[in-house]
Amino acid sequence: MNWMEKELELLADASLERSLHASSSVSGAPGYTVHREKVLLNMSSNDYLGLSQHPAILEVMSEALLTEGVGSGASRLVTGNRLPYVRLEEALVDWQNCEAALVFANGYMANSGVISALVGRGDVVFSDQLNHASIVDGIVLSRAEHARYRHNDMEHLRTLLNKYRDKRRKLIVTDAVFSMDGDQAKLDELVALKHEYGAMLMVDEAHSGGIYGKRGEGLCHELGLQNDVDIHMGTFSKSFGVYGAYICGSSTLIRWLVNKARPLIYSTALPPSIVAGISKALILVQEEHWRRERLYAANRLFRFLLFDAGFNIGGGDSPIVPLIVGDNDTALRFSSALEEEGIAAVAIRPPTVPDGTARIRFSLSVVHTDTELTNVVARIHNIGLRLGVLSS
Ligand SMILES: *Cc1c(COP(=O)(O)O)cnc(C)c1O
Repeated sequence: MNWMEKELELLADASLERSLHASSSVSGAPGYTVHREKVLLNMSSNDYLGLSQHPAILEVMSEALLTEGVGSGASRLVTGNRLPYVRLEEALVDWQNCEAALVFANGYMANSGVISALVGRGDVVFSDQLNHASIVDGIVLSRAEHARYRHNDMEHLRTLLNKYRDKRRKLIVTDAVFSMDGDQAKLDELVALKHEYGAMLMVDEAHSGGIYGKRGEGLCHELGLQNDVDIHMGTFSKSFGVYGAYICGSSTLIRWLVNKARPLIYSTALPPSIVAGISKALILVQEEHWRRERLYAANRLFRFLLFDAGFNIGGGDSPIVPLIVGDNDTALRFSSALEEEGIAAVAIRPPTVPDGTARIRFSLSVVHTDTELTNVVARIHNIGLRLGVLSS
C-alpha cells in the first residue's frame, strides 16, 4: 500500500487533495450551514428553490415514515415498488407531458444505468467534454466508443458524427445546464444534428429541472424541444431539495429500462418516505412560481454585481455562477478567505474542471436576499483585490 501514500503526497503538493468536513444545517434557515462551529451563508448548495426544509415536505415524509417504515426492503422489481412510486411516476408523466416515467435512486445511477442500457460494443456516444462525471462513467460502463466533443462546439460534434457514421447505434448526450460553468447546451442545434444523423438524444436536466419552463419542467420545455428529446433525465436532489432522479420518455424506452438498467434492477428501491417527499416537492415546484421568479431576480443581481466588479464569471444565466481564478492554490485561498468572512463557497479544481480554470463556484438560492447578495459581492471584491485576482 506504499504507493498510495506517495500518490497522496503528490496530490497534496499540487493543492489537489480533497477531504471531508463535517457541516450541519441550521434549522429554519436553509440558506445557512454550520462549518467548524461557525454559521456561514451557504452559497454552495444546490437547493436552488429553497425546498430542503419545506414544512409540507417534512410533514408528508414523516407521515410516510410512520406508515411505510424506514426502508423499502427490496429492489423495485421484487417488492420494493411501493405505492408512493406508482403515484410519483404518474405525476411525472403529467408534469413532463410524456408517455412514461421511471424513478431512479439518484442521478448518478440514472445516468450510468441508462447510458449503459442504451448502447454497447459497436455503438458510439457523443458527449460534451464538460458533461457530468456520471455520464462519463455510464459511457465507460457501456463499452461503446466515447466520442467527446469540445464544449458546445457543434462543428466538432458534426465532424465526429461524420467520422462514426457507420456505428450501429448513436447517442448524443448533454447536460442542459453545465454543472461547473452554469452555461446552457445548444439544444436546438443538438436536436437538428440528432435528426440529421439519426442519433438518439439524451438531456440531463439536473441543474435546470425546477428552474426553467412554466411549471419547472426544464430547459427542453422552455425551448419547446421536449418532443425531440428521446431520453429526458433530471434529479430530485437539487431544485427539489430531496433525493432521487427520473427518466421521462416513450413507453417503449421505459419498458426497455425496466428490463435493462442494472442500477434499477440490482439495487434496493428508495425508502418510501423519500418517494412520498419527492411527490410533494413536485407539487410545490409546479405551483410556486414565485420561487423561479425570485431565483431569476437574485441571479440577475448577483451576476451584474460580480461582472461590474471586474470578475470573470463566464457567460451563463443559470443560478450556477463560476468565478474563475485560474490556479488551484489561489482558488483554495479564495475559498478560505470567504469562509473567514462567513461565506461557504467551495473551490472547484481539476480534474472536475480543466487545468488552469480553478474557480469558486457560487450557487444561488431563493433563500438569499438582495442585501445578503450585495454584502457577499462586497466581500468577494475585497478578497479579489487582496489575492490579486482583480487588479486595482
Ligand atoms: C448532480 C448531478 C448528477 C447526479 O445527481 P445525484 O442525484 O446527485 O446523484 C447528474 N448529472 C448532473 C449534471 C448533475 O449535476
